Amino acid sequence: MSRIAYVNGAYVPTPDAFVHINDRGYQFADGVYEGVTVRKGEMIDLEPHLDRLWRSMGVLAMQEPMARAPMRLIFKELIRRNRISDGFLYIQVTRGEAVRDHAFPVFSVPSLVATCRRLNLDAVKSRAETGVAASTQPDIRWGRCDVKSTSLLPNILAKQAAKEAGSFEAVLVDENGYVTEGSSTNMWIVTKDGKLKTRPTSDNILAGITRARVKAIAEGLQIAIEETAFTVEEALDATEMFLTSSTSCATPIVKLDGEKIGDGTPGPVAKRLVEAYFDFMDD
Ligand code: PMP
Repeated sequence: MSRIAYVNGAYVPTPDAFVHINDRGYQFADGVYEGVTVRKGEMIDLEPHLDRLWRSMGVLAMQEPMARAPMRLIFKELIRRNRISDGFLYIQVTRGEAVRDHAFPVFSVPSLVATCRRLNLDAVKSRAETGVAASTQPDIRWGRCDVKSTSLLPNILAKQAAKEAGSFEAVLVDENGYVTEGSSTNMWIVTKDGKLKTRPTSDNILAGITRARVKAIAEGLQIAIEETAFTVEEALDATEMFLTSSTSCATPIVKLDGEKIGDGTPGPVAKRLVEAYFDFMDD
């Protein structure tokens, strides 16, 4: 739990950190967010996270709460005040407080909240060494999954169903049988001919910051990448499968819907990428 939160201009102890009941984030999920990994006190890929935050606010015609420079300083200070070495920085911007009405308020002050809690990245790495199970779930989300909106009910329901099935993550599948992404992760497979496959970014998946980083790392390692959608059948037929996200880094999926992927253990390509991603964070 975060001990100190940043709430609209003040650093406050978490038990005293509140927003108004008329905040549109609370009323309508009229908000956007980012989640940034902190490694040894440093924010990983902060600039692409801020680019994506600005893009999300732009798509939703949401006024930014402040410029990027003071925002960076606030996050640094929050990490310092919470004495975080390895952690997770959560940033949320909403359209602010207004009398409840679906249309945008004529005037409102955007709300900025940030929290930072510890994240055991050594445990994330250990989990990546054994791999995780995943379960498929229908993707019932809206048409703008490229926007990192706080409106996450379909993701929550999918994750809960996966959890109840004993899985770590839900693999979301569109009506044509193609994998879109995970409930809070991007999905990858390694095909039998050794190619990495991940769905191209469009309005039906989130352009993951870790996805972009892992893609760049794989290119640097001269691993062939094909950005094409793949089906659940292709995933079951793949030699490897893994997910990427800020909190999970790269994590192999060794079982999908109870069936082994490859030999049921993390494969060499995913292992290389996990190592390389941690090296990148530690550089
Ligand atoms: N897809 C979805 C739906 C997500 O919520 C997330 C993480 N917030 C991701 C992918 C991974 O994105 P990132 O690598 O930027 O954490």
